Amino acid sequence: QQVAVVVGTRPEAIKMAPIYRELSRSSILQPILLSTGQHREMLKQALDVFNLTPDFDLGLMKPNQSLAQLTSQTLSAVSQFLQQNPMDAVLVQGDTTSVLGSALAATFAKIPIGHVEAGLRTYDMEHPFPEEINRRLVSPLARWSFVPTQLNRQNLLQEKIDPAGIHVTGNSVIDALLWTRESLASQTQSVQERAVQLGLPPEFSSEFLESETGRFILVTGHRRESFGSGFESICRGLLEIARRFSDVGIVYPVHLNPQVQEPVKRLLRGNPQIALIQPVSYQDFIWLMDRSYFLLSDSGGVQEEAPSLGKPVLVMRSTTERPEGVEAGTCRLVGTDQHVMVSEAARLLEDREEYLQRSALKNPYGDGTAAQCIRRILEEDLQKAS
Ligand code: UDP
Repeated sequence: QQVAVVVGTRPEAIKMAPIYRELSRSSILQPILLSTGQHREMLKQALDVFNLTPDFDLGLMKPNQSLAQLTSQTLSAVSQFLQQNPMDAVLVQGDTTSVLGSALAATFAKIPIGHVEAGLRTYDMEHPFPEEINRRLVSPLARWSFVPTQLNRQNLLQEKIDPAGIHVTGNSVIDALLWTRESLASQTQSVQERAVQLGLPPEFSSEFLESETGRFILVTGHRRESFGSGFESICRGLLEIARRFSDVGIVYPVHLNPQVQEPVKRLLRGNPQIALIQPVSYQDFIWLMDRSYFLLSDSGGVQEEAPSLGKPVLVMRSTTERPEGVEAGTCRLVGTDQHVMVSEAARLLEDREEYLQRSALKNPYGDGTAAQCIRRILEEDLQKAS
């Protein structure tokens, strides 16, 4: 039976890769990797690490495309794909436009949908950002909701989603992380070599990556809700951290979205304590994360991965659909206010005891067996149906 595994952006590639690999081992199921090409470059970089190439690429991203255009393009292109390539199931992951468009297309084609990483909610409808809307709309369409945690399950039950279709599997990002960490362990590259390859200046890397006393903060940011004044404030916060802590470096792989690139380059370029680099491969990012002191990020995946590597995360958002990490203590919401960012960063940099406490917590998002679990459920249900 053929199962379309849809990917559109970097996090979808990372979180679907372990599932695609696991389904490839099945004697019953055949996964078909379908790329919408929503963020083509970063998607390819993420798939390469897992040696995956899309079987089909719809190439939907066009410059300056509105969300409405992208949504309708995805709906019609995936519908056409499903007409020409009948599938027995469609798997989507997360909360992007690709997810919503593909789920609608599959529903119209009467093909059952599996939603990976279902049940995440902020319930913040005052600022209805697209991701929250996408994931909320997809839940009632899905035959299988693969939820990472019990809290996600509760969210869906509250929304009257049929409990028979909800499966607590953990998050497949932990599968990807553990696999990547293992593959890193067998590599012999020196810190210096890898740092050069990542585009880190030699002086920066000898001061903050290679020396015994050096520390660095790893930064990522890409959310629409922070475009404009949010990113300006984040950048000013980073400059202030660098000014107050001359022994601390900042490594920032800058997202390719022009709305991120512009303020970041304008405000941060040229500071010797701040290394602005291109987005790095998943393997390199895990390597960097493992060496960092802590992270400043608005990324969902980073909040899920960091506890496994013992790294606190200051989350540059005012809300999160992943409260488990905040409750555990690894993650803390700091918003994009530069003063809060700086004082929370200072606390981690100055208070070693607090730092150690926040870095030694259990990961609430899973144990690396999500993909196996999803494969087993799909095999059982699809075999029954055939
Ligand atoms: N990541 C990566 N390279 C980078 C920055 C991040 O591979 O330069 C990984 C990171 O480990 C995480 C994912 O990309 O798994 C997060 O992607 P993003 O922040 O774009 O999306 P989100 O997690 O917010 O959906």
